[in-house]
Amino acid sequence: MGHLKAEKKAWCKMCADGEVEDARHYMCRCPNDLYGKIRTAWYLKVKEKLRGMSIKLWDVFVGTVVLKNGMLANGEGQGADGLLTAWDATSGRIPILWTKTAAEEGIDDEAYKRFLRWYGERLRKNLWRPMWVERSREMASMKNDEIS
Ligand SMILES: [Zn+2]
Repeated sequence: MGHLKAEKKAWCKMCADGEVEDARHYMCRCPNDLYGKIRTAWYLKVKEKLRGMSIKLWDVFVGTVVLKNGMLANGEGQGADGLLTAWDATSGRIPILWTKTAAEEGIDDEAYKRFLRWYGERLRKNLWRPMWVERSREMASMKNDEIS
């Protein structure tokens, strides 16, 4: 019984899915509305940037990560080989396929490095940080509810 209770404690408090709140759940799968909005804004921003760079690169990105109802899932492109996942992309591991495609598309090293910096910054500023802020806010308000 104690074991079950301990498990429940680890469940995500931002949704009713009864899943352990690990980073994968939290970053990609949690159906919480606020999270969904943040993911959507981030996703559209990256997609737009890539479209401006190369349509092939854009294609590879949406083949790696897809947005469904505000949740991030693995795409069905070449990225779906089990090596490249939505989780990889959101945790900043750049799939080799992106790098390869950029080279094939004639994007020079400097431009690609600039893109990687931009991507890393968007991950931090537009995805991880706002997600964390929302989570902290929700947790704080839950605590207040408990007290009052
Ligand atoms: Zn959740």
